[in-house]
Amino acid sequence: SRRQAAFPPTLTEQESILANSFDNNTISDWSYYYTHGDHVAGRNRSQAQWTADRWSENGFTSSLAEYHVYLNYPVSKSITLSYPNGSSYTPSLEEDVLPEDETTGYPNRIPTFHGYSFTGNATAEYVYVGRGQQVDFERLVELGVPLEGRIALAKYGGPFRGLKVKNAQNYGMIGAIIFTDPGDDGNVTEANGYAAYPDGPARNPSSVQRGSVQFLSTYPGDPTTPGYPSKEDSPRADKGVVTPSIPSIPISYEEVIPLLAALDGYGTPGNQVNRTRWVGGLNVTYSTGPAPGAVISMSNVMEDAYTPIWNAVGVINGTSQDEVLIIGNHRDAWLIGGAADPNSGSAIMIELSKAFGRLIETGWQPKRTIVLASWDAEEYGLVGSTEWMEEYIPWLTGSAVAYLNIDVGCSGPRPSLSATGDLHTIAVETMRKVIFPQGEAMNETLFDVWFAETQGVVGVLGSGSDYTSFLHRGISSLDVGSDAGPDDPVYHYHSNYDSYHWMVTYGDPGFRVHTAMGQYLTLLAYHLSTDDLLPFDIPNYAEQMQLYYDQLLAVINSTSSQLDTSELLAAIDVFETRAAEVVALQGQAQATGDAALLEVVNRKYKDFSRGFTSQGGLPDREFFQHVLFAPGLDTGYAPVTYPGITEALQAGNVTLAAEWVTKTANGILVAANILKT
Ligand code: GLU
Ligand code: CA
Ligand code: ZN
Ligand code: ZN
Repeated sequence: SRRQAAFPPTLTEQESILANSFDNNTISDWSYYYTHGDHVAGRNRSQAQWTADRWSENGFTSSLAEYHVYLNYPVSKSITLSYPNGSSYTPSLEEDVLPEDETTGYPNRIPTFHGYSFTGNATAEYVYVGRGQQVDFERLVELGVPLEGRIALAKYGGPFRGLKVKNAQNYGMIGAIIFTDPGDDGNVTEANGYAAYPDGPARNPSSVQRGSVQFLSTYPGDPTTPGYPSKEDSPRADKGVVTPSIPSIPISYEEVIPLLAALDGYGTPGNQVNRTRWVGGLNVTYSTGPAPGAVISMSNVMEDAYTPIWNAVGVINGTSQDEVLIIGNHRDAWLIGGAADPNSGSAIMIELSKAFGRLIETGWQPKRTIVLASWDAEEYGLVGSTEWMEEYIPWLTGSAVAYLNIDVGCSGPRPSLSATGDLHTIAVETMRKVIFPQGEAMNETLFDVWFAETQGVVGVLGSGSDYTSFLHRGISSLDVGSDAGPDDPVYHYHSNYDSYHWMVTYGDPGFRVHTAMGQYLTLLAYHLSTDDLLPFDIPNYAEQMQLYYDQLLAVINSTSSQLDTSELLAAIDVFETRAAEVVALQGQAQATGDAALLEVVNRKYKDFSRGFTSQGGLPDREFFQHVLFAPGLDTGYAPVTYPGITEALQAGNVTLAAEWVTKTANGILVAANILKT
């Protein structure tokens, strides 16, 4: 069975050089560097240059790619709750300074705010809207809860935060406040007797989740340059298409309690709304409200900026001219820290460059060009990666063999992997070559730990990180990281407590998870760049399409729609046949050592997935071209498969769904045709 890799793994000489060059102490040094300075987007040129310099030292030709983009920065904000009796409550909206964790007290620490939030005031009664998903709003309407002209109080979790604000705005609400709920923290909570950070592994009650409120499922990148790169003199589109027009502010669980408590007994209690996750971990009834006379006044002031951002880009040329592997990680954070998001990945990327530097010293050169990218402004909406992609579309769609992403490389001990179907096999097999820590023990492979965690299921890519632009141009993509589970120390996502001190105390003391994830990404990049034949599994892509097809049938059933999907099924069959044929051709090329034939196969592997893109994109979102995957319109992060068909069905538009059966089938046939031998 697939279970259990050989232990210890046996590596080739080159694999050993790469894996053995990893040093947890130097990873710690890189982490320390990144997590002790402001690296909010557009304010981190020195960190971009530092990254490029480290890559240069290790043999990569490095430079900065600059774009001029729209961002906004926080100026001031306030929330005041006025009670019917005339008294009031004014939360601080800031996180506690912790003497144990020095960067939380830096004078230039970053306030709490929402990136791309709207500058404005709102004064009104307010309504608790659960996670703020469309179903939540529909339920509120059904219950007769007044929304129009009110302020939304929403819980983090589930859909991307920008969609919560978008939904509130669409229902006529005039402001949004989004809070962290300890009920989403798993078992390691103060309520369960754990001490809060910094004294223990539970959430610090003052922690606030910053983050962008862009509407990411419409298009990513600079809101003012949809589909084209942001240069200083680029024409600018209306940013209001993908950014809110009502103010929003994030708040901690400690400070939201009075806001929730004032709704207790008004409207419908959370446990009677009949929506899951309305009731959280706080000692309130999570009533919908509004509470007559309980009024919130909120003000949010942001400063608009059209400002440079910097991607660091490092290159080792391959022997073959027109094949490129891209490995990317974002560098910007909402904080001084950002030890997990994104600088666990950033520290790993420096160590990865060092590993390849060692191999270069032995005379190795990859077959395919390796491009390292350190993206800026990911946090605002995947801006650095999207603008770069938009600048180099012809080169990338012609030459890219794959895009590998590492964002949160480590926020805990549970590895996770998502990828397009062609990359599953190499991605999983490579896990067998890496030793992964289990507490103090070092006697299991990454494969074993990952398999135990996921039952061997590779995830489907949605959105929320920098692979998005590549995936939607039909480039095979992968995203890897290691996360915290329900029994692990709580990861303070987008909070000041995502700091170096948290990482060395709770997240990854000793940086051994960082080391394992880095060795993994390096070995994966090595095989994708160096193997004579691209290690792609095309039949698995067909298998995945069949799985997505079964899920589509379930959607058709659940919406009781009449939809003929035989065209799609036939296209999957054709793809499956072409996949088997190309595998046979590959076998022939490998058996005869016919180099020209091998190149024919390589080219097909590099190119076939471009076929999955549909030129005009999905309905009302031209950017998202892949016919097999998209970020859910109503989820943002979570993917939807066969998005054109599935979302049309969910909207009750069977005519459109039928149109997308044809378009999807056509995309699959174009891909199959590129594989044709
Ligand atoms: N990783 C960022 C977030 O989750 C992505 C922002 C975006 O895609 O707009 O906030
Ligand atoms: Ca753009
Ligand atoms: Zn990130
Ligand atoms: Zn982030």
